[in-house]
Amino acid sequence: MTARLIDGKALAASVRAGLKPRIEALAARGQRPGLAVILVGDDPASAVYVRNKVKACEENGIRSWFEHLPAQTSESELLARIAALNANPDVHGILVQLPLPKHLDAQKILETIAFDKDVDGLHATNAGLTLMGRPHFRSCTPYGVMKMLESIAYPLRGAHAVVLGRSNMVGKPMAMLLLAANATVTICHSATRDLASITRQADVLVAAVGKLKLVTADMVRPGAVVIDVGTNRTPDGKLAGDVDFDAVREVAGWISPVPGGVGPMTITMLLVNTVEAAERAAARSPSAIGRRPTEPHI
Ligand code: NAP
Repeated sequence: MTARLIDGKALAASVRAGLKPRIEALAARGQRPGLAVILVGDDPASAVYVRNKVKACEENGIRSWFEHLPAQTSESELLARIAALNANPDVHGILVQLPLPKHLDAQKILETIAFDKDVDGLHATNAGLTLMGRPHFRSCTPYGVMKMLESIAYPLRGAHAVVLGRSNMVGKPMAMLLLAANATVTICHSATRDLASITRQADVLVAAVGKLKLVTADMVRPGAVVIDVGTNRTPDGKLAGDVDFDAVREVAGWISPVPGGVGPMTITMLLVNTVEAAERAAARSPSAIGRRPTEPHI
């Protein structure tokens, strides 16, 4: 059997198309959604991610503010920038690109973002609400994976979902969203014994580790849905996931590729969260009509 492909790129395009009328409705009321992205330092991979996020905003009618701060930025300077963005009514979403330079306390920084502008879903309040099964902002990558499962109408109720990885950004919120959808969830991590015996029980397997070809064909139950979150470089420099794609696609029922799978969905769900933030802000202060927007900072 060759697995059917879950095409994240095509799904992302369709989700973005669905956002268009919502963005236009807000813009018509003078409340165009706005996302501020802060990058601290010169990590080349982060610079690419940030550029892609800003580009996605521009292509979809969302205003963006990009603040590139030097690597030696102090905690107090960064906190002051976030406080200013928290207070700016034109900014509906704030994203601080991770990882941060080592001298900055990432969790403290993330929790300075107003939780109702935390479109990355990483604030402790948003993580806690997701844990309680009433998410305010879902973390973008797991949210994208849930949309991918929804797109194939996968019946999660009672299914065994196995999540590889337990990070705050991906693994844990992924497990919580699957649990909320009534899957029976197992979370695996670096101390898990006999990983293959657990993955072979999965109806849905989500790999979010960051290890090239960690998931091999013998680890997958025939017909399972395999979603590959991992991003790795092959020895010849190509982007690849955690799953041995060519071998696993001969066993799985559905599989998402890397690139073209979870990646485009992650950015798309950031746009979705930003639009939701703007809609909530508009519902709170409908009087913003006609107010001049703040100049972008780029
Ligand atoms: P992370 O913080 O490094 O977490 C990796 C997780 O994998 C940890 O929980 C770790 O366990 C676990 N792990 C390590 N070795 C393992 C093994 N042999 N078996 C099972 N679990 C193992 O990474 P992350 O931020 O969650 O990201 C995971 C991957 O997804 C990375 O490749 C990242 O680049 C990618 N990613 C992609 C997107 C996208 O949009 N496509 C978005 C976010 C992340 P411990 O907790 O025990 O250390």
